[in-house]
Amino acid sequence: MAIDHKDRWNVSLETKCQGMDLSICDKYNSISFPIYQTATFSHRGLGESTGFDYTRQSNPTRQQLESIVADLENGYGALAFSSGMSAIGTLLEIFKPGDNIIVDEDLYGGSVRIFDVIAKKNGLTFTVADLSQEDIEPLFKENTKAVYVETPTNPMMHIIDIRALAIATKRHGALFVVDNTFLSPYFQNPLNLGADVVVHSGTKYLGGHHDTIGGFLVVKDAELDKRLRYLSTTVGAALSPFDSWLLIRGIRTLAVRMQRAAENAQAIAEWLTKQDCVKKVLYPGLPTHPGYDIMKRQARGAGAMISFEVESKEMAASILKNVELFYFAESLGGTETLITYPLTQTHAEVPEALREKNGINDRLLRLSVGIEGVNDLIDELNRVFKLAREGK
Ligand SMILES: *Cc1c(COP(=O)(O)O)cnc(C)c1O
Repeated sequence: MAIDHKDRWNVSLETKCQGMDLSICDKYNSISFPIYQTATFSHRGLGESTGFDYTRQSNPTRQQLESIVADLENGYGALAFSSGMSAIGTLLEIFKPGDNIIVDEDLYGGSVRIFDVIAKKNGLTFTVADLSQEDIEPLFKENTKAVYVETPTNPMMHIIDIRALAIATKRHGALFVVDNTFLSPYFQNPLNLGADVVVHSGTKYLGGHHDTIGGFLVVKDAELDKRLRYLSTTVGAALSPFDSWLLIRGIRTLAVRMQRAAENAQAIAEWLTKQDCVKKVLYPGLPTHPGYDIMKRQARGAGAMISFEVESKEMAASILKNVELFYFAESLGGTETLITYPLTQTHAEVPEALREKNGINDRLLRLSVGIEGVNDLIDELNRVFKLAREGK
């Protein structure tokens, strides 16, 4: 059941993060939304439902979360899933064998895997291209039903022009899907720029604490919302009440976390450009980044993800071995800084030829910058770079 958000669109994003909606508060007026940890809901008689029947289908805690996320993305409705991947998997169920999807070539490894291993088996075909560079027009075929991108891309941080692709996609009557995980609704709202569906891994910035897995689909259109809700109920990958509550809590601090993390990332990216052992810094907040102008037009900030290339594989290995203040781990978007090795972690599933073409090599590292003191983070990078230069 979708909630009408239109009357709440006028408050700031910071305020929307608090999820205040007294109309669905419980009878004790609790400030923290209750966790309705129940599988099923009773009926007083025939035709007398409270609107909730069975938690796979809908649950008040999940509905509150969905209402907040729909609000943050200016969507008609949002659906919460047990992971980002189950959100994407459920979305793929709207397509039929023979349908074609145009996808950007630089995507989260799990998305590449679900397209390759599951969607292809089910008869979908994919056209893969660098949509930050190539003209999309000639790629459309008769059977193209969707275009799927992330921006900034993962891990190469290309910027894709959402408005331009939305116009082209609409012209061909296809669905435009944008995975907005990297910037979160705090910095970017693809539905406002013409996208039809926004995907989120809620595990990342929305949850924000590396303590739960979740995912979202947000849509602009009531009919699509209804179709996806039907599929979600059928497939059964909806988010649990407790995890829904963790996401509601995480989102309360989304604005302040994003602000601080992006400030830290900007300072670190600038510092990295001055280090001799760093060969490339990929961060869209640097004016030298090729996507800088497009990013400025479509987003309110550059986010807190930085990829960078060091001079050798040995140096990358040494950095990963010696970091202490932050963690060598996959994932992103939490309060603490993580360093990732895309080659063997997030992008191990990407076919080798495509990895090489995209520049995912043995010297590439990815930082998810957290909200720690920025000087501590720079001191730590300085320390591990020095150890690496000493061959330790
Ligand atoms: C992590 C991630 C996903 C998958 O989400 P899970 O919550 O891990 O299932 C999808 N897209 C992007 C960009 C991601 O970073």
